[in-house]
Amino acid sequence: MKRYSLLLLLFSVFLAALAPGAAWASAATPVAAPANAPVEPAAGDGEAALPAEEHPPAVTREVRTLRAGTREETEVYILRAAEPGPTVMIVGGVHGDETSGYLAAGEIKDWIIDRGTLVVLPRANSDAIARGRRTSTGGIDLNRQFPVGKEPATELAREIWAVVEEFQPVALLDLHEGWGLYRRHDSVGQTLITYPAGDARRFANEAVQYLNTYHVKNRSTYRFRVVGPPVAGSLARKAGADLGIPAFIAEATAYRTLKATRVRWQKAFAEEFLRWYGLIDREERVVPKEYRAAA
Ligand SMILES: [Zn+2]
Repeated sequence: MKRYSLLLLLFSVFLAALAPGAAWASAATPVAAPANAPVEPAAGDGEAALPAEEHPPAVTREVRTLRAGTREETEVYILRAAEPGPTVMIVGGVHGDETSGYLAAGEIKDWIIDRGTLVVLPRANSDAIARGRRTSTGGIDLNRQFPVGKEPATELAREIWAVVEEFQPVALLDLHEGWGLYRRHDSVGQTLITYPAGDARRFANEAVQYLNTYHVKNRSTYRFRVVGPPVAGSLARKAGADLGIPAFIAEATAYRTLKATRVRWQKAFAEEFLRWYGLIDREERVVPKEYRAAA
């Protein structure tokens, strides 16, 4: 039996040597590919030959301008994944001095989603951002211009609300900052303000627990809490009440924190939000986990 196998092997090697482009022959004389050559999947191997990150899901991006030609001019980004799914909306820059909200939203608009539609309005109040103030010219607080059950009170608020009505998001997240700490100061810093429609409370509790575990180092001072509902006149309140959808205001505190930390908190909330509502599938986090729960 052994002898038969050896003969068979020798015969196979002989045949292979005769065959043009035989596997062993080409393996023995590899052709070096240039370092930056694109990786081609081998014929018949299918997509499995490539790591997943080389096949980002197709996302189309539409950009629209609100309040065009005015000092409130600002862009809204509509990201659509190839795979159909729910629509959600993320907003930043409603208050011009709450830096981390619009910086985070400015990054989120470039994220890749796996399914559905993500509407991002990174700099909702560009006039207030240019002023570096909470309010826009004339002292108008954009987050008091969205009365429940009524037409929004300013042109900017009406154009923003028209986007909400057009896309009918299943949930909305508005990124803000508080100057202090909830319960220690007269501030909502380190809260996720929640309009309790649908599964809002379940998401809020999970998201806050996730951030407190992996993104808050000093938990006795900086742990996030779920509070609510959003203040009357706010975009989140109107979205929650008029559309009956889960709506949230993330409030990162500026109290003795780095801007980079606050941006990370905002992005972590946004990522968990997209994951919860089904727009992101991947296990791998856009915002990597940093801290572990104490053993
Ligand atoms: Zn704010």
